[in-house]
Amino acid sequence: MHNDPKDHTGLPQAPFTPDPRDLAPGLYLVATPIGNLRDITLRALDVLAGAEQVLAEDTRMSRRLFDAYGLAPKCSPYHEHNADRRRDSIIKALEDGARIALISDAGTPLISDPGYKLVREAARRDISVFAIPGPSAVLSALCVSGLPSDRFLFAGFLPPKSAARKRVLETLKAVPATLVFYETANRLHSVLTDMHEVLGPRPAVLARELTKRYESLYRAPLDTLGAQVPDDELRGEMVLVIGPPDAQDHWNEAQIDAALLDAMRHQSLKSAVDDIAKLCGQPRRDVYRRALDLQKRHE
Ligand code: SAM
Repeated sequence: MHNDPKDHTGLPQAPFTPDPRDLAPGLYLVATPIGNLRDITLRALDVLAGAEQVLAEDTRMSRRLFDAYGLAPKCSPYHEHNADRRRDSIIKALEDGARIALISDAGTPLISDPGYKLVREAARRDISVFAIPGPSAVLSALCVSGLPSDRFLFAGFLPPKSAARKRVLETLKAVPATLVFYETANRLHSVLTDMHEVLGPRPAVLARELTKRYESLYRAPLDTLGAQVPDDELRGEMVLVIGPPDAQDHWNEAQIDAALLDAMRHQSLKSAVDDIAKLCGQPRRDVYRRALDLQKRHE
């Protein structure tokens, strides 16, 4: 970076005016705040200042962020309604060596936001794609939820209609992982009702307005969570985090044996036991005993 002022920490200060030549050519996926405007990395600011073009979902909304940091990038809209039309010319510019940044309205681009097809096309053509990581509502909600974070499935938005929603929930019911959904406030109660019907009274967390002034968090089983949320909080942005199924409910002995046999075909006994014990939620020593027994019977 050239000529940028540094304070006593040695970190660059605004205004961020890196020389565009310091950025390698390519597509930059830049994460931006999900509420609190201070949640932006120094590197994100460098890239937004240095890119020849910033593609934004909503240019007016992104202007707030640029103004807060004294940035004035060349910014054009890239959203679900014009993406197909614009993609070829963006790819052409990237092939000619441009540095282009993609941002969404909030958080990490591509996470329930436009960008996937652009990255796929860039990858097909060997164009460099760089992650400029930062905020994302899914990870923030998972981390504050207090629910198991070692294994999770992000399922984005559920369908708006109850029947379709329940069908999707049925496909997720046996997944041995914490489930994370984006949801809208006006559907919260009907979604919780459907979730309880399909998934049972699993532990759940509603994370609202994360990083914002009126951030709030509600933790309760699925059948009582809705009643905890005051009516005046049925607005704003929200994420629902649902605990994993009680594993023993979903794995009978025959299923554990079948999974063990399958795993032991291409893994050592020890690693098969480790994996299956984790998946079925049974104590490792019990699964180990079953595995030894199976091994003897199949010798
Ligand atoms: N790309 C974003 C990300 O990385 O999180 C998400 C974009 S998605 C179109 C928008 C949804 O994310 C909202 O409807 C809400 O479910 C969730 N969301 C975004 N900001 C949030 C916040 N501050 N608190 C809670 N949920 C948020």
